[in-house]
Amino acid sequence: MTCDALELSLSDWQILFSKWNEQKFRAAQVCQWIYAKKIFNYHDMTNLSKDIRAKLTESVLMTLPVLVKQQTSKDGTKKFLWLLADGNKIESVLLNHGGHKTACISSQAGCPLGCVFCETGANGFTRNLTRGEILGQFLMMEKLNGADINNIVFMGMGEPLLNEANVFSAIRALNDKDMRNLGARHITISTSGIVPGIEALADFEIPLRLSLSLHATNDALRSKLMPVNNQYSLSKLVGALKRYRDRTGERITIEYALIDRVNDDVQYAYEMAALLDGLSPYINLIPFNPIPSRPDLKRSQETRIKEFCRALSELKIEFELRKERGSDIMAACGQLAASRNA
Ligand code: SAH
Ligand code: SF4
Repeated sequence: MTCDALELSLSDWQILFSKWNEQKFRAAQVCQWIYAKKIFNYHDMTNLSKDIRAKLTESVLMTLPVLVKQQTSKDGTKKFLWLLADGNKIESVLLNHGGHKTACISSQAGCPLGCVFCETGANGFTRNLTRGEILGQFLMMEKLNGADINNIVFMGMGEPLLNEANVFSAIRALNDKDMRNLGARHITISTSGIVPGIEALADFEIPLRLSLSLHATNDALRSKLMPVNNQYSLSKLVGALKRYRDRTGERITIEYALIDRVNDDVQYAYEMAALLDGLSPYINLIPFNPIPSRPDLKRSQETRIKEFCRALSELKIEFELRKERGSDIMAACGQLAASRNA
């Protein structure tokens, strides 16, 4: 029976080696090669016997996403287009801010949620990514980068909390000290507001970071921009965020993309303060990145951004105005859509 290397947890590897009458520590050795050294060819795993290497080659597949295209933006952001084993294509992004690298990875091929401002959503949904496909993007980026990437954000294509089992399983491998050993504080999930997923995250054993894509501060506008709001209204969502904060003690980040005359009126800054009262989140104001499918949506004008920021300051809400990254190669937030850009 064959299985796939990136689908196996450390204990799966241990079970495999014990079936072969090999010692348990072989499992951690293989995982070191794959997750720490990015050696994906069993023949190069030189501290394993020739016999083990041959058995591995025969019975454990090593399926990795195949790099189809790589682009580099003026600001150093890199975008990778991958081909998956079944022919689907996905994208990942490597951000570089002053030496700190962050991998932005996809959790689904496409996205079923159809937020009006997002190119991924405009291109429809194909399927969830497997645990191996999620890990494969990251490990391949690290290999191509030639050094470890110490931050990972689930902000590529798809809604991670609609692919909870595979995303959580991939995160366990990233965090496992015998696998990638990446600290929980260096892993962020961004969600459009899947309430049961937020509840599950509150009970998840790894205390990672949570980012919520808000983009509108009342139900009427949010449902127009993000249809997922019809299922999980703002009151349900804020309730879940408060429970998450109370259970984990974690501060939540709120993402808010400023779209010209859609959600950038100062009245919304006041609505935001009322809506998030008692949550004390950190607000990331992101410049809206234009997308081909909605040429009518524009980035807010400078004066309107300034007024919005001034209102938030007066309201004593902590926020940061983010710089756009990678938009010249369609690698910025919301611009990923492998089918169109390929
Ligand atoms: N589905 C998840 C994660 C992927 S989207 C989510 O929605 O949170 C990653 C981030 O990009 C989210 O904060 C999303 O709201 C934002 N985004 C989508 N389209 C955008 C655009 N055109 N301009 C700026 N940010 C955008
Ligand atoms: Fe999906 Fe997130 Fe894009 Fe909305 S913003 S369509 S949830 S990827």
